[in-house]
Amino acid sequence: MKEQYRETDVVRNIAGIQFGVLSAQDMQQMSHAHIVSSELYSAPAVTRQPAPHGVLDLRMGTSQKDSSCETCCKNLTDCTGHYGYLDLARPCFHVGYFKNTVHILQNICKICSHVLLKPKDKPGMCEQAKRITSYLQKKALYKRVNELCKKVSSCPCCGAHNGVVKRLPPLKIVHERFRNVKKGSPVLTHYFSQFDTALEYSKELESHLTSNIVEFLNPSQVLDLFEKIPYADLPLLCMNEQFSHPKDLILTRLLVPPNCIRPSVISELKSGTSVIGIMAPKRPGTPTGASEKKRKNNVLIISEKIDLLKKLDGGTIFFM
Ligand SMILES: [Zn+2]
Ligand SMILES: [Zn+2]
Repeated sequence: MKEQYRETDVVRNIAGIQFGVLSAQDMQQMSHAHIVSSELYSAPAVTRQPAPHGVLDLRMGTSQKDSSCETCCKNLTDCTGHYGYLDLARPCFHVGYFKNTVHILQNICKICSHVLLKPKDKPGMCEQAKRITSYLQKKALYKRVNELCKKVSSCPCCGAHNGVVKRLPPLKIVHERFRNVKKGSPVLTHYFSQFDTALEYSKELESHLTSNIVEFLNPSQVLDLFEKIPYADLPLLCMNEQFSHPKDLILTRLLVPPNCIRPSVISELKSGTSVIGIMAPKRPGTPTGASEKKRKNNVLIISEKIDLLKKLDGGTIFFM
């Protein structure tokens, strides 16, 4: 059995624990392998040699008794495992941070990304945010900033018009920019003027140009907005630039856990098997009954989640 790692002859007192969000750069630094291949095994697949840069790459440790880790050269008993990382083709919302992502979007300008508070109020609130340490006080400040920002329709920094940001089920974010704007107001007329050329070619478009216009904010757009948030405004979002930044709430990279802490499923199927194949393989001779029922349920849950993923054009990561 593996033992917890302890440095010998060193006694330390733990002064505190700091939680943060891993950035894409942090993930790369703590990893030993870049996963780019969808192949599980290198050809010929029957020899079951893990494919280099695949999710079973031996640089992340081993889950087999007869092979050793390519990073530390230790065997299954002694190697504690090493992380890998894979880059996503497009940014994705993290389902666990989704609520915070919506809150931050409500607090910032959807053009210049500054927090929607008056410039004269910001220094005082920033100081207050840096001073407080209690969770409840921070939560109260977070709520107060959110309530104040939701009331602002014109950005004090760039003057852009901001509307209501809300979540649409299942996991979409919409910005109703002109929800509370009256018909014929200069803001709306200015916005519609950009469609003048399109209107010349298609008169039908006119019926769609109303104040009910909604903008769907996809993960790429949200990431662009979050990247522009000034560091000076981070305390107002109850974030500390040393440990986390709003842009880290949008996933562009995933950590791949070490081989030895993942279930060691030896797929009977050839390399390049699908996710469903890997996660719920039907073993020959599996008895029907409770375990078979469980397997079918798993397949159903996974296929439901994949169906849901397909419906989300923006893309959201679920941890199953
Ligand atoms: Zn190792
Ligand atoms: Zn602005």
